[in-house]
Amino acid sequence: MKTADFIALEDRYGAHNYHPLDVVIDRGEGVWVWDVEGKKYMDLLAAYSAVNQGHCHPRLVKSLIEQSERLTLTSRAFRNDALGPFYKYLSELTGFEKVLPMNTGAEAVETAIKAARKWAYTVKNTPRDQAEILVFSNNFHGRTTTIVGFSSEEQYREGFGPFTPGFRIIPYGDFDAITEAMHANVAGILAEPIQGEGGIIVPPDGYLRHLRDLADEHRSLLIFDEIQSGLGRTGKLFAYQHEEVRPDIVILGKALSGGLYPVSAILADDEVMGVFHPGDHGSTYGGNPVAASVGMTALKVLVEEELIENSRNLGEQALSRLRQLDSPHVKEIRGRGLWIGVELHPEAGGARRFCEALQHQGVLCKETHDHVIRIAPPLVIQQAELNWALDRIEGVLGADSAEASKAEPAVAVA
Ligand SMILES: *Cc1c(COP(=O)(O)O)cnc(C)c1O
Repeated sequence: MKTADFIALEDRYGAHNYHPLDVVIDRGEGVWVWDVEGKKYMDLLAAYSAVNQGHCHPRLVKSLIEQSERLTLTSRAFRNDALGPFYKYLSELTGFEKVLPMNTGAEAVETAIKAARKWAYTVKNTPRDQAEILVFSNNFHGRTTTIVGFSSEEQYREGFGPFTPGFRIIPYGDFDAITEAMHANVAGILAEPIQGEGGIIVPPDGYLRHLRDLADEHRSLLIFDEIQSGLGRTGKLFAYQHEEVRPDIVILGKALSGGLYPVSAILADDEVMGVFHPGDHGSTYGGNPVAASVGMTALKVLVEEELIENSRNLGEQALSRLRQLDSPHVKEIRGRGLWIGVELHPEAGGARRFCEALQHQGVLCKETHDHVIRIAPPLVIQQAELNWALDRIEGVLGADSAEASKAEPAVAVA
């Protein structure tokens, strides 16, 4: 079967809830993927930062296979021998006392919301059903009905109501707006320390510190969703470390398994995690042995292969190189570590046509919010590979028309 046949099958039998680039991938290794025609591409999306450790990392594959030959699922009704060591490693790496594992990112966000509310009622003594959680415009926290209920993206909400009450949307990056929104019943402030799906929006300096101070002043919890920004993407273990603040709850997902398997978790200290008692919350697959083994190896790969440092070093280089680019299409270039957003002028005709032009040159990117090209390669990327990709990005952005570059054949170097 060829590309068109696979696409036809997906379109015929699958729900049309995505609009993917028309490339059908059948193999991946490190920063590279191959399509069913045998064409090679560099992956500059890394599955929205789930594949920070690179495609099919041999250590992760080994861990998945070895664990799945031995034991895969006990449910949490029984204990398993992989979970404790994973908890310990994650806790010691991050400095949080406790871990609560789930599967997808959205489930971990839901878990953080439940933790914050229960903490408000049982520790802070907020009157019953009065707890409020402040969230931000342009947020992305997942797709459950509760979560889309506090999205500011109309399409995410349209047709899915009625929504869960108890959330308020505050403009992101605005010091005064959040200050004024605080009150005694705010159980938590839920924020992405850098907004990913929103277009790689880095908040103004001091903003995360401001959130911390407000949370302390009003005795609210500060909750950072690090599902996309965390685990090395921004050149630090967590994006909040760029401001040296410590949240009360951290939400992890995506790269926590290096792309092999859905693994998510929340981290918190005893005061917050202690609100959960047996029966309060759970998940059949959450904390299963395969997840725990793969999760532990994914963290070890990040640390032992120095991927966080690589993200910081190569990210700085990429950012300064792109900022020198003289392109009529580029409005702003921003980012931290290997997480860069190239925002185009509205007149450029949208980011998608540039992503399609890059696809023809062997580079896979995904636009976000129509006008932003997101550059987020697996963190195992090497200097020469990054330069190769930047050459192509500069070529496409510098060209008079993205169409022109489509004529060039797909080429890729190792
Ligand atoms: C991807 C993402 C989520 C949702 O994770 P899923 O695994 O898709 O449910 C939540 N928050 C952020 C910041 C994300 O990037």
